[in-house]
Amino acid sequence: MNRLDGKVAIITGAARGMGASHARRFVAEGAKVVLTDMNAAAGQALADELGASALFVDHDVRDAAAWQRVVRQAEARFGQVNVLVNNAGILGPMRNTAELPVADYHAVCEINQHSVFLGMQAVIPAMLRAGKGSIVNISSIAGLVANYGFPSVAYVASKFAVRGMTKAAAIEFGPRNIRVNSVHPGFIMTPMMIEATNEEGGDAMAQIPLGRIADPAEVSNLVLFLASDEASYITGAEHVIDAGMTAQ
Ligand code: NAP
Repeated sequence: MNRLDGKVAIITGAARGMGASHARRFVAEGAKVVLTDMNAAAGQALADELGASALFVDHDVRDAAAWQRVVRQAEARFGQVNVLVNNAGILGPMRNTAELPVADYHAVCEINQHSVFLGMQAVIPAMLRAGKGSIVNISSIAGLVANYGFPSVAYVASKFAVRGMTKAAAIEFGPRNIRVNSVHPGFIMTPMMIEATNEEGGDAMAQIPLGRIADPAEVSNLVLFLASDEASYITGAEHVIDAGMTAQ
């Protein structure tokens, strides 16, 4: 018996980084997975590698109509939707509050925050049809604290918002058997992290109590747990995976 047998999951931003790691792990644990991303070449290549349990859909998470298409394709191919991992996100420019262009503020919030609303709105009806569901919204330690220097006010705003939206949806849909949780990673070795540390993240690395950056697979362990029925009594909660960063 695998931990996600019988589950159908949608994972956004699944072409690379943590989303790709979650997709690999979910399939290994028995799930059918719809991988979505704007990076169609990488997303399709990963889905091909994962085989019949995976479907890639070219999807911009900012697009409400595209979300409806993703849900329709998931139900058509795999019959239902049980899990949504709202993972796609961007860091955006690392500029201070006085210097961040308004357009960049909106762009970050649209991808990191508004898309989480669109995703929950599109997928909840399918979860109600399926009888239950688990939504995992990927926030950040920047959704808990703002003193690590390099994420912009837009990134912090968007990730704090995801934490709050998670709790609102959890309360609304708990009585209908849908769990909603947020995950708050610290420093995880992905293309986004590499791009960030090439800019201004170097000093923050020295502050990690466990003394290292995580492998994406370590975050997949947590996301897998929250997606699975092992987390059946867990909803509306924030789950920190940061090697002790926010304990300081
Ligand atoms: P990543 O390596 O940059 O991967 C993110 C994926 O999302 C990319 O494939 C990207 O496609 C895709 N994406 C971006 N905008 C999109 C859009 N509008 N529609 C659909 N897909 C889109 O990032 P990651 O580090 O794995 O981050 C995953 C999540 O974890 C993000 O929400 C991030 O904020 C969060 N997080 C990351 C860290 C960290 O240390 N890495 C820490 C805390 C939280 P393109 O390649 O085309 O851009």
